Amino acid sequence: MSQTATVAAAPGAGAGPISTEHFDVLIVGAGISGIGGAYHLSTQCPDKTFVVLEGLESFGGTWLMHKYPGIRSDSDLYTFGYRFKPWTGAPIATADEIRKYMGEVIEDNDLDRHIRYGHRITNATWSSAINTWTIDAIRTDTNEHVRFTTNFLWMCQGYYRHSQGYTPDWPGLDRYQGRIVHPQTWPDDLDLAGKQVIVIGSGATAATLVPAIAGDCAHVTVLQRSPTYFWTGRNANELADTLRELDINEEWIHEIVRRKVLHDQQVITQLSFDEPELVKHELIEGVRSFLGPDYDVEKHFTPQYRPWRQRLAFVPDGDLFQGIKSGKASMVTDEIESFTEHGILLKSGEELSADVIITATGFNLSVLGDIEFTIDDKPLVFNDTITYRGMMFTGVPNMAWVFGYFRASWTLRADLIGDFVCRLLSHMAELGASRVTPTLRASDAQLPVLAWMDPENFNPGYLMRGMHLLPQRLDAPEWQHSQDYWVEKDSLPAADLDDGCLTYE
Ligand SMILES: Cc1cc2nc3c(=O)[nH]c(=O)nc-3n(C[C@H](O)[C@H](O)[C@H](O)COP(=O)(O)OP(=O)(O)OC[C@H]3O[C@@H](n4cnc5c(N)ncnc54)[C@H](O)[C@@H]3O)c2cc1C
Repeated sequence: MSQTATVAAAPGAGAGPISTEHFDVLIVGAGISGIGGAYHLSTQCPDKTFVVLEGLESFGGTWLMHKYPGIRSDSDLYTFGYRFKPWTGAPIATADEIRKYMGEVIEDNDLDRHIRYGHRITNATWSSAINTWTIDAIRTDTNEHVRFTTNFLWMCQGYYRHSQGYTPDWPGLDRYQGRIVHPQTWPDDLDLAGKQVIVIGSGATAATLVPAIAGDCAHVTVLQRSPTYFWTGRNANELADTLRELDINEEWIHEIVRRKVLHDQQVITQLSFDEPELVKHELIEGVRSFLGPDYDVEKHFTPQYRPWRQRLAFVPDGDLFQGIKSGKASMVTDEIESFTEHGILLKSGEELSADVIITATGFNLSVLGDIEFTIDDKPLVFNDTITYRGMMFTGVPNMAWVFGYFRASWTLRADLIGDFVCRLLSHMAELGASRVTPTLRASDAQLPVLAWMDPENFNPGYLMRGMHLLPQRLDAPEWQHSQDYWVEKDSLPAADLDDGCLTYE
């Protein structure tokens, strides 16, 4: 049970006392990471009280908010699903299927009683005098200001701003007479039947959206500045199907298929570094096999970058390419000169006209859920910190952050961090410590400070645009997010909690 107290109003909070509840741990967000965190806490630290605060009206995060046609995962659910809950459907899943799976985790583990929906957190304030975080939130139903205190803050708020996607400020945007829509804020009343549509962008979102709308629209033009890598295959897992035929139980199937998927991904990732031209050739030939020898695959589907420098978009059953082959969709590789009254003028001089323009141009990075952080009366400048293993930060006590993988499924890391946080909390209890703060050792302080991510390694637009908001790293395993599941699956569980990187008080 939480403890409840009534305290004086916070500065700027309006008149009247605010009721404050205290929990040992407070999780921000009820997406796949936050629900995973709640599961790990309830199973590995059953004596800890905890609450999950979620700004939206329900669980799911990404899979609740995104409502564009065709929304689905681009990772297989054997690895995007949790380690502890077998996935029994097709590998690529719709948002509804992912939410159903998460709903079962909540129900099976009685997590609902720990979650408060409609609580948008605005401020997080750390006090070293009492080793406590004070969390201020607004209830979205009543606009009421509510306050919580907690010993440990577990940030599972995702990495992008949910309220608004990223749309570049193209010249002439305001001249365009048609409708502009961002997939992240898909309107309920959008009817695309018989419409000429342009989709700007060719990442995973466009690859999902285009086949889903192409049948309805008069025509869809995908306008990309530069090509993206795609890989295709059936939305089925042969090994899982065979094991099911043999009547193997689902727990085993989940574990065996996860291992196989991860093994194959490791081979491909390594090959992308060792033999990028070979991987590039294979990926491009995969696209050509759908579009035929006469299609200009060089122009529209041959990226300049090495495979895996940006996330590979999976196209189940080649549905995007089938749309192109049938003539319902087409690709244009060019740059935008300006928007016009009826569409888009390209740098080549060609003009595209459209009734609706969909800007599948990505996210705005939001590193801390747009929460204002203060540490002992000083605003936290996240970029001034150095990350401890991509999940804690120098000078930021009692806080962990879930930032998953890009090349492998996000949830693999959410599970690893879940184990780590529970181990850390137990270790603190053993030590009788109330505070843990990542702190550079004398030897670490000699190392050069680097940006969060090496752009040579991985460089999607939202990370490049937001690098100045992210913490920094050192060139040492303890002080970076390696983005390498195959290393971290062993190194995180084995990380020595007493190697001097974490200071306990
Ligand atoms: C369309 C799309 C498809 C994707 N597909 C894949 C995929 O196939 N595989 C993969 O690995 N990754 C994928 N990703 C990345 C994906 O975002 C993550 O994998 C994963 O869903 C993130 O889960 P999360 O719980 O960490 O964050 P989110 O899903 O973003 O959830 C965070 C939650 O925190 C809440 N929150 C944030 N700030 C506050 C606040 N201040 N107060 C209260 N609540 C707050 C939000 O409302 C939200 O519910 C995809 C992303 C998108 C957008």
